Amino acid sequence: MKFLALGDTEEIGASCHFLDIGGTGIVLDAGTDPRREGPDSLPRFDWVRERAQSYVDHALITHAHHDHMGSLPVLVEEFPHAMAHMTDATKQLLDFLLPASARLQKKRYEQGETQHEPLFAEEDLDFLSHVYLSHELEKDFDLTGIEGSTSVKGRFYSAGHILGSVGTELRFEEKGEERRLFYTSDTNMQPQSIIPGGEYPSTADVLVLETTLGADEEAEQTSRPEEVEKFRKTLGRVIDRGGTALIPVFVMGRAQEMLAMLQRLKDEGTIPSGVPIYTAGSMRAIAGIYDDTNDTTPRLDEEFKVFDVEQERVPYESDAKTEILEGPGIMVVSSGMMFEPTLSNVLARRIVENEEDAVLIVGHAVEGTPARRLQDAAADGQGSPVMLAEGHGPQPVYCTVERFRFSGHSHRRDLLAIVDDLSPETVLLVHGEPEAQAWMRENIEQRHPEIDVRRPDWGEMIEI
Ligand SMILES: [Zn+2]
Ligand SMILES: [Zn+2]
Repeated sequence: MKFLALGDTEEIGASCHFLDIGGTGIVLDAGTDPRREGPDSLPRFDWVRERAQSYVDHALITHAHHDHMGSLPVLVEEFPHAMAHMTDATKQLLDFLLPASARLQKKRYEQGETQHEPLFAEEDLDFLSHVYLSHELEKDFDLTGIEGSTSVKGRFYSAGHILGSVGTELRFEEKGEERRLFYTSDTNMQPQSIIPGGEYPSTADVLVLETTLGADEEAEQTSRPEEVEKFRKTLGRVIDRGGTALIPVFVMGRAQEMLAMLQRLKDEGTIPSGVPIYTAGSMRAIAGIYDDTNDTTPRLDEEFKVFDVEQERVPYESDAKTEILEGPGIMVVSSGMMFEPTLSNVLARRIVENEEDAVLIVGHAVEGTPARRLQDAAADGQGSPVMLAEGHGPQPVYCTVERFRFSGHSHRRDLLAIVDDLSPETVLLVHGEPEAQAWMRENIEQRHPEIDVRRPDWGEMIEI
């Protein structure tokens, strides 16, 4: 079997890995790199022909985050006979998110915000939807390629990360023996508010492992119930003093999980029922997909519907915004990193100087983003300056800024437990920064000296 990383493996770039299994070409995920734009954000699909001298028969899309699926339309154009496999929930999300992405790329190009032409057009996506095949969890499907010399079977396992997310098992014969490869993709082995923890197989020969939180010591020391308790107390204080709590979130996944948590806090009385929850953008459409699939995907509570969480829209006009910012109120808006000119950035600039308000950061704020700058300024003490957008500020930070760990990823002890459980011969470390991968490698080697741990370089062909 040959393995070739088509996307950056050293950072959290575009997830995309090519496998040649006895002449069958399989791509695991087809993402775009969130830090790059235009053709630079794409995986190196050209390497499939040039370096692996192969072809793509099948693409497996593990979940609907852009770093895992954003380049699928381009992949299918390059390899027109390739079929794309995913869960039904992921298919529904793709049918909504990819056209939205096409429209946004077009708008940005036309308005001169980027010099890159859109990677694909909305019109091209209709036909694409026909090459998506959906499969149920823990059911075999055939992946043998037209030139394949051995049969290859695929099987999805719930990854616990976002709606529809899966880890993928490939089974095939090599030199007369059955071999199993398991790709975790983004994984969360702990339950969130809506989605239960991942359920993985019990064995694998080769494990392709994500490493997002490999360098995060704090993550393994915090428990979700403790974080929920901390969140409950902080939010309660902000509401009591009549303040506004701004919760910047990713539209896909984190937003729905936060709404579910807020509903629970309302039900138990931490948040008085009259306090409005404001949302914006495409969150409602995605909530609809969460709700449409609640009896066909793993859930903690099958009855819960995201749509039932009472929400109001953040008004468009500035004056109307001023009115609702009088508080008390809760705003669940994107983007999670508070990039300008998103709503979370606009609203944060309006509340950071008010002592009674709060920005509650509910995920990992990446270095260099406005969310991280705010978090760091607040840690420097009351009144420390922050620049949230170019040409605005610096502003002194007087509002409460607190961070909570509601990650959608497994912490590193859980990642090690996956290795323990599956006891593979080979582990390939992907989807993490160098420090994270170094910690994972060291700890896997310590616990299991017999395991061959590798970190494939971007573009390096590995024979396994
Ligand atoms: Zn993800
Ligand atoms: Zn990811």
